[in-house]
Amino acid sequence: MRTLLILSILLYTFALYGSTDPSNYPKDYFASPVNHEIKLSGTFGELRSNHFHAGLDIKSTKGVPGDPIFASAEGFISRITVKSGGYGKAIYMEHPNGYTTVYAHLDKFAPEIEAYVKKQQYANRSFNVNLFPPSNLFSFKKKEEIGKMGNSGHSYGPHLHFEIRETNGQVPLNPMHFGIEVTDDVAPVIRSLKVYLLNDRNETIKEQKFNVSQSGKNFTLSNPNLQIGAWRVGFSVKTFDQMNQVRNLNGIYKIKMYVDEVLYYAFSMDRITYGETRYLNAHLDYKDQVLNKSQYHRCYKLAGNRLNIYQENINSGIIPIYKDQAQNVRFEISDEDGNVSKLTFDINRKEDMTTQRPQDYEYILLENQENYIENDKMSLYVPQGALYENVYFNFDSTIEQSSHIFSPVLQVHEKSVPLHKYAQLRIKSTSVPSHLRTKAFIASCSNDGKFYSNIGGEWEGDWLKSKTRNFGQYCIMIDTIAPYVSAFAFRVDMRGRSLMSFKISDQFSSFDYEAYVDGQWILMEYDPRKNRITHHFDGRIGPGEHQLKIIARDQKGNEKIYERNFIL
Ligand SMILES: [Zn+2]
Repeated sequence: MRTLLILSILLYTFALYGSTDPSNYPKDYFASPVNHEIKLSGTFGELRSNHFHAGLDIKSTKGVPGDPIFASAEGFISRITVKSGGYGKAIYMEHPNGYTTVYAHLDKFAPEIEAYVKKQQYANRSFNVNLFPPSNLFSFKKKEEIGKMGNSGHSYGPHLHFEIRETNGQVPLNPMHFGIEVTDDVAPVIRSLKVYLLNDRNETIKEQKFNVSQSGKNFTLSNPNLQIGAWRVGFSVKTFDQMNQVRNLNGIYKIKMYVDEVLYYAFSMDRITYGETRYLNAHLDYKDQVLNKSQYHRCYKLAGNRLNIYQENINSGIIPIYKDQAQNVRFEISDEDGNVSKLTFDINRKEDMTTQRPQDYEYILLENQENYIENDKMSLYVPQGALYENVYFNFDSTIEQSSHIFSPVLQVHEKSVPLHKYAQLRIKSTSVPSHLRTKAFIASCSNDGKFYSNIGGEWEGDWLKSKTRNFGQYCIMIDTIAPYVSAFAFRVDMRGRSLMSFKISDQFSSFDYEAYVDGQWILMEYDPRKNRITHHFDGRIGPGEHQLKIIARDQKGNEKIYERNFIL
């Protein structure tokens, strides 16, 4: 009886939410969201900055916005977002079979959605909106048009970012498992192998890179017999997928590592939750990404890596090596279409061993606990779970004479070491004049105090406190300068014009803005790539003489008011 109950609960759960085994996904339920042949500029699981790519990037036909975008299956619109960054204009559609599709970076929504969104933007007095329309408002059939392809939000060129998620928990799945057709008979390319000599705590003693040469789908090292001066070793590979008629280097789907024909380490890009996507920084070689923009898939697991893409993981992928016993290592790297490239070589332990950690350090931060450091210039609290491995921590400071810096420049370890969670950083300053204390913030900066970014800050006595997910250089700066606003497409006589547009920016921080005509709030779309806000005339402002007022305010309360009259 109990077995039957459990079985029926399981069956019910499967019917509602589908199976997590990709082979059980429906293969003909979802249609292509475009009408042209799909060419990809991005694949699921591709390595991006701080996250795995959660969908497919589908190229436009002609490199300009405007290709029609279709509902991939019957369903209703459960969410609409408009953002100056991120997904830009995006539609989320919920389907009756337990999946949700996402269509991002749109240029326009379908007219009835566009009208609804604008009404909500005026009601909320905000360009950015996050809307959850009632389920009976926007229903679409499979292949009905829902919008136009675009370049809105954080996007570099017109494309559709398309996702298929489990509705329950909004977990992104690899859309290629749902039968979406992409022609690809080109196997992945392997560019380079990185070797990590490890000590008995699995810390890297030394790293070496080896170029890879290609012969068809087989790849080799120039010397295919690696002599390694350590007791154990880990590997990472720099590899991409290539597709027919596309020059982009896309992400690979799967890597299997065999040692003497035993499957030793394997992962594939099938299902990656938003809660775990930042573990990308443990999966790849973070240092190489930050310093060289090179992306290596690490094929051994760091202690703090909680990512769930690894299917096989003998000894965390770390291979013990022997002096008189060569072992054969083979990587098999696959794309979605089952094209496989192989890299094969032997490893041996050599006589002279690399033993010492080369660098100096002040503190050791341990991966499996919280860590706190304090001295007379700064304090740093690193919570448990913020580090992927032990960090031999460096701290240094230089006194800068520059008039715009109000603390030493602190070297808080290296930007090439990842932080999974926010660390709390406090910097001491006694040189900020009391009337400027409310204008002080912690800046990420260069060695010589050049401003990079603003991480904010609140005072605790003489300490300015903030949080950060990056190591690197920090100092205290002062922001007393209001945002900059000026006319871009604007003059006194606006008759016959379809829009007005203004340049807007701030030196040190993000900012809020509002615009009014004759005292009424008006919608201004913000494009941060162009530092521009734009109002499209749509009949809300009638013909005649008008007063325009734009207010822009930065994080430190510095305010710019821009006022002009115009005729429409
Ligand atoms: Zn994308």
